[in-house]
Amino acid sequence: MAILVCGGAGYIGSHMVDELLKRKEVPVVIDNLRTGHREAVPENVKFYQADIRDSKALDKVFTENKIEAVIHFAACSLVGESMEKPLLYLNNNVYGMQVLLEAMVKYNVDKIVFSSSAATYGEPQKVPIVETDPTEPTNPYGESKLMMEKMMKWVSLIHKVRYVSLRYFNVAGAAEDGHIGEAHSPESHLVPIILQVPLKKRAAITIYGEDYPTRDGTCIRDYVHVVDLADAHIKALNYLRENNKSDIFNLGSGNGFSVREMIEAAKKATGEDIKVIIGKRRPGDPAQLVAASEKAQKVLGWKPHYTDMESIIKTAWTWHKSHPKGFNKL
Ligand code: UDP
Repeated sequence: MAILVCGGAGYIGSHMVDELLKRKEVPVVIDNLRTGHREAVPENVKFYQADIRDSKALDKVFTENKIEAVIHFAACSLVGESMEKPLLYLNNNVYGMQVLLEAMVKYNVDKIVFSSSAATYGEPQKVPIVETDPTEPTNPYGESKLMMEKMMKWVSLIHKVRYVSLRYFNVAGAAEDGHIGEAHSPESHLVPIILQVPLKKRAAITIYGEDYPTRDGTCIRDYVHVVDLADAHIKALNYLRENNKSDIFNLGSGNGFSVREMIEAAKKATGEDIKVIIGKRRPGDPAQLVAASEKAQKVLGWKPHYTDMESIIKTAWTWHKSHPKGFNKL
């Protein structure tokens, strides 16, 4: 039977497809290619260019394939954009989840692993954040992910569907051999932006504020390697296969690194000097976001393989150096 990867042409989704193939699973991908890349999915993987809000397209996918479970990444994921276009986020993310769950119920597919976010917590009252902490999103993106979780909760109480929701913190890195990686346009994430300096695409990295109440004044985040994240999804899938109950897990390393520490790690990973400019705070950035991941470690048996930032950034560097223009124009 096949695993349907919604959003399998995106950054995390494509690494998920890669890991599924390595474990001899059969992925089937649906992606509308709004932000994903066709080139990120191997030719031998069945690919549907379609939107998950299109129930007719889902009918086709679910009737043409024997789908055992769904792994769901297909969503808009930019905090800033969500503050400008809240209705886009509600429609694409929340309504998208509704149509997907309707299809799962219709075709008796009973397992879903969902790509959720630390943004469901909002501004943390304390770190590390545990799964039982209050969920008070501070932007439509986080709210949409929380609404998607709640939809799954109610559907699972009434229909024969079980879910695992994985709340990610910061994701970085690329496949070890650099054949796929992160390619957003425009780019807004810290690691690829830092690497644009040694790639000579920008003169310097701007640090968004150095007056935060942290050890060096810059924001602290919990960075997890994208392949470790994909591994967590496979563990979550196996957890559901073993008939365990629906649940929510944080995915982080439990260790926070500051923006300055990430830049230092990038200098070591690339062997290049990286020029820094100090800028203003970016609105909406909490000082610290660090996950307590004991639950995922204990219940799912998940343990991140990449723990030092230099090794994470090295994999991103391998990808960016070999694909300076991303997927499209090599
Ligand atoms: N950041 C920065 N300069 C940049 C991009 C990001 O200083 O050009 C900081 C940002 O303020 C945050 C951290 O790097 O504290 C991670 O940002 P990113 O957008 O990668 O992820 P987020 O934590 O917002 O999900």
